[in-house]
Amino acid sequence: MRNDIPLLIASRRETGESGTFEVRDPGDESVAGLCPAASPAQLERAVAAAEAAFARFKDSKHDERRALLHAIADRIEAHAEELAELVTREQGKPLPLARFEVGGAAAWARHAASLDIPETVLEDSEERRIVLCHRPLGVVGSITPWNWPLLIAIWHLVPALRAGNAVVMKPSELTPLSTLRLVELVNEVAPRGLVNSVSGGAEIGSRIAAHEGIRKLVFTGSTATGQAIVHAGAGNLKRLTLELGGNDAAIVLPDADPDAIAEGLFATAFLNMGQTCAALKRLYVPESLHDAIAERLAGIAGRQVLGHGLDSGTTFGPVQNPVQLAKVEALVADARARGGRVLCGGERLARDGYFYPPTIVTHVEDGARLVDEEQFGPVLPLVRYRDLDEAVVRANRSELGLGGSVWGQDIELAERTAARLECGTVWINSHAEVMPHVPFGGAKRSGVGMEFGVEGLLEYTQTQVVHRKK
Ligand code: NAD
Repeated sequence: MRNDIPLLIASRRETGESGTFEVRDPGDESVAGLCPAASPAQLERAVAAAEAAFARFKDSKHDERRALLHAIADRIEAHAEELAELVTREQGKPLPLARFEVGGAAAWARHAASLDIPETVLEDSEERRIVLCHRPLGVVGSITPWNWPLLIAIWHLVPALRAGNAVVMKPSELTPLSTLRLVELVNEVAPRGLVNSVSGGAEIGSRIAAHEGIRKLVFTGSTATGQAIVHAGAGNLKRLTLELGGNDAAIVLPDADPDAIAEGLFATAFLNMGQTCAALKRLYVPESLHDAIAERLAGIAGRQVLGHGLDSGTTFGPVQNPVQLAKVEALVADARARGGRVLCGGERLARDGYFYPPTIVTHVEDGARLVDEEQFGPVLPLVRYRDLDEAVVRANRSELGLGGSVWGQDIELAERTAARLECGTVWINSHAEVMPHVPFGGAKRSGVGMEFGVEGLLEYTQTQVVHRKK
């Protein structure tokens, strides 16, 4: 059990002024660690420390910022195994997937180091020279969810630093330890007070969202919380990047080969036990391929080895928390009540830990909660369609629009179909792939703004036009 991980405020290690709270291991329900609970006064000091650090860091050279990001990646790599075990203990994912998460965190930091902040000359004439510049913003607040805790923390942290800002980070109260440890490691190499951590749930989160000293907030989490943050942030009109929920539809074209696509469909629907924002969450299949695809998916599901993430051989971990597990159970119960057939899984395992096996449900339609709502867990509904136009309309019925995908052999048809999907990313013959150089963000109620690539980086800057008369 870890009870040694502190808050970092002004680069000093602090215990929580509001005591501690328990972090549960979802694989056996034991206590994985005790987390210091930050007080409102600690948040105030974290913001003040970040403001003071920003006053110095905003004028730092690009090479200094690049070196800092490489140093952060070095610290992550030097502590990779410790961080991966922490992620598994608090989040539940199998250790190889946690190692992938930690490796991704280092890779994202190095990629952010490589990015240039562009300056664009808009006019250079006899009368005037006009240049579009990007300046640092100030203190950036980061609020993260529990599904990919370390990776999403890095997604927020490294563009903020690359752009010259200071940061206050608040991880999910369900998975705080890996982020607090990350911030501790970052403070071994970062200027004093530049990166601070606080902890707690909605109460401290809403204080961050409303804080007048925070110029920008980057939030990843549910759409409902994102909406609350928009209201709370109105006071100082803080800049917002919101990466919110998704209910990604995938459409299988009639010429698809079930053998060729089944592994990819399964992997991207059940990535991280389905607890991935851009996982495939609704699968629209033509009548002619329905049974073949359902059978292959159930076959792959049956080969998964459920277990504690630290046990060797485990391929499928628990759901992260009991609330999420209850949601999955409720959606499957609703589907059953409407005549849905559960091909595999469909019941919580009778053992310690929040285990729910990979579950494939057929004979469900739009209108069932499992199709209409984000399940964010290990269950996938297969919905039959007769006509491709109808499938596109049904895929677009959602108020969410994070990702979508089209699977088939006729690439022209796949591209035409992809262009009709209302979502921020559309994949062809894959899903849920995110990369540091590729902008990612949601349409409709899946978010505001973009992350990653230069577009994502510029969200951490204030655009300034420099207009010089000659
Ligand atoms: P959540 O919204 O419940 O919590 C996310 C964070 O917000 C936590 O740190 C929480 O403490 C904090 N919070 C809660 N209430 C708050 C308030 N009123 N003000 C400020 N902060 C508050 O989300 P979750 O359950 O942790 O995560 C699951 C959701 O996140 C899913 O909907 C998933 O799709 C989404 N998600 C989206 C992306 C993306 O990139 N679009 C990535 C991962 C997860």
